[in-house]
Amino acid sequence: MTHLVHTRIDGALVMIGFGSIGRGTLPLIERHIGFDRARFTVIEPTADYAHVLRDHGLRHLQVALTPDNFAEVLRSLFPDGRGMIVNLSVDVDSVEVMKLAHEMGVQYIDTVVEPWPGFYFGSDLPNAERTNYPLREKVRELGKACVGGPTAVSCCGANPGMVSWLLKEALLRLAADTGVATDPQDREGWAALMQSLGVKGIHIAERDTQVSARAKPPGVFVNTWSVDGLLSEGYQPAELGWGTHEKKLPPEGHAFDHGPGHAIWIDRPGADTRVRSWCPDVGPQFGFVITHNEALSIPDYYTVWDGDRAAYRPTCHYAYHPCNDAVLSLHEMNGAGLRQPDQHILAAEEIVAGGDDLGVFLYGHANGAMWYGSRLSCEEARRLAPYQNATGMQVTSAVLAAMVWVAENPSMGFVEADEMDHVRCLEVQRPYLGSIECHYTDWTPLQNRINRFAEDRDEGDPWQFTNFLAV
Ligand code: NAD
Repeated sequence: MTHLVHTRIDGALVMIGFGSIGRGTLPLIERHIGFDRARFTVIEPTADYAHVLRDHGLRHLQVALTPDNFAEVLRSLFPDGRGMIVNLSVDVDSVEVMKLAHEMGVQYIDTVVEPWPGFYFGSDLPNAERTNYPLREKVRELGKACVGGPTAVSCCGANPGMVSWLLKEALLRLAADTGVATDPQDREGWAALMQSLGVKGIHIAERDTQVSARAKPPGVFVNTWSVDGLLSEGYQPAELGWGTHEKKLPPEGHAFDHGPGHAIWIDRPGADTRVRSWCPDVGPQFGFVITHNEALSIPDYYTVWDGDRAAYRPTCHYAYHPCNDAVLSLHEMNGAGLRQPDQHILAAEEIVAGGDDLGVFLYGHANGAMWYGSRLSCEEARRLAPYQNATGMQVTSAVLAAMVWVAENPSMGFVEADEMDHVRCLEVQRPYLGSIECHYTDWTPLQNRINRFAEDRDEGDPWQFTNFLAV
C-alpha cells in the first residue's frame, strides 16, 4: 500500500524516548514524512526495543539524557543547526530541551511538559507548585521571547493535542446544528463563538474499554500506555480550568495566587478525584480529574476579555476512565498507599476486545450536551499500523500531524495545539482515528442516583462543577 508523503524534514531528525509512543510513531513517520535515514537518531537509555531500531535501519544512541549531558548530546546531533527534535520520553525536562532547540535553530515537539526526575514524587514543593499551571506558565513566558523563532510545539499528543483540534470541529458542528452562522479567524473569534453558543464547560471525556484475556495479577500496575506517565500526572493535584459560570470552589479547591488565574487546583490526587461524565460507548460514567495541559490551555484560549476582566471562560478538565485494569491498579495502589512492584503496558496483540473513545464533551448549550470525538477499536488500530493499541494510535497520529504542521510552518515560535491549524492537522490525522462521531445527550450530572444520599447539589444549574464532582 502506498502512503501519502505530506512533507520532508531537512537536516537531522532526533526522537528522544522509544517507549510505547515512540515505537508507534516511527512507522507513521516512515510512511508520511520524507527524511534522511542516515540522520535519524533515537535516544533511548534501554535496549528493550533496540531490535526494532536495527530492523528499521536507524541509529540507536543508548544514553539517558540528564541535566549534565543533554546539551552536549543534542548539539552533537545538529552540527548544521537544521532538523527536528521529537521528545517522546519521560524524565527529560521539556523546557530545557525547548530552550536548547531554540538556540540551535531546530524545530521541536513534545506531548507533555515533562520535568527532570524529582518533581512528580518526593518533591519538597508545596502542592500548588506541583501542578501543571506553573509548568505551563514557564513555557508560555519563555515563548514570549521566541516569537517568530523555530517552531516548538508544546504538549501535542491526543490529549493534550488532538482534542483541541476536535474542539474546534465540535464548535462548528454545534453552531451549524443550532443555526449560528460563524467563521472564526483568530483566538478572539473562537472564544466569542464558544461564548455565543452558551457552552459552560468541556470535559475531555475518555473511555478506554481495552481488555486482555488475562486477569490483572495482584501487585502489577497494568495500563494501555506509559504507567510512569499515568502515575506522574495522576498523583499531581487535580486541576481544572475554572469557568466564569461557577458559583463556588469545590472542597479543598484553591485559586492560584500568580499568573493569569484561569484555573484552580484541588488538594487531592487527580487519580483519586472522580467526576460524573459521559462517553458514547457507556453513557454516564465516572472519570478521573487528572491534570493535563489542555485543562489549562483551552480555558486560556477561549477566555473572552472585557479589559482585564474575564467576561467569559469555560470550565475545562480531563474526565478519564482508563482501561479497567488501570482502574483496578489505581484502586490497589490507593488502598496500599504504595506503588506496585511491577508494571505492564498491554501490547496490541494482548488486547482481545475494546477500544478508546476520546473526545470533547461540551455542556450547558442550547442542545444540552454533546460528545464529539474519535472512536477507535484496538482491532482497527492493529490493522492501521504496527506497534500500537487504540490509545497509542490516537496519540501517535497526533504526533505525526504535529510534525507535518511544524515542517510546513517552521517559524511560529512556541505554540500549543489550540494555536495550530486544526483543519490541516486533522486532515493528516483523520485516517488513523477510526470513526469521528457526534452524539447529543439529555444527560446531566443531576440524573441517576442509586438510593439518595446527602450531597451538595445545585438544582438551579445542573452544569455547576459541584454537581459533577463525586470525589
Ligand atoms: P513509556 O514509559 O512507554 O516510554 C518512555 C521512554 O522514555 C522509555 O522508553 C524510557 O526508557 C525513556 N526515557 C526515560 N528516561 C529517559 C532519559 N533520561 N532520556 C531519554 N529517554 C528516557 O512512555 P510512553 O507511553 O511512550 O509516553 C511517552 C511520553 O508521552 C510520556 O511523557 C507520556 O506522558 C506522554 N504521553 C502523552 C500523551 C498525550 O496524549 N499528550 C499520551 C500518551 C503519552
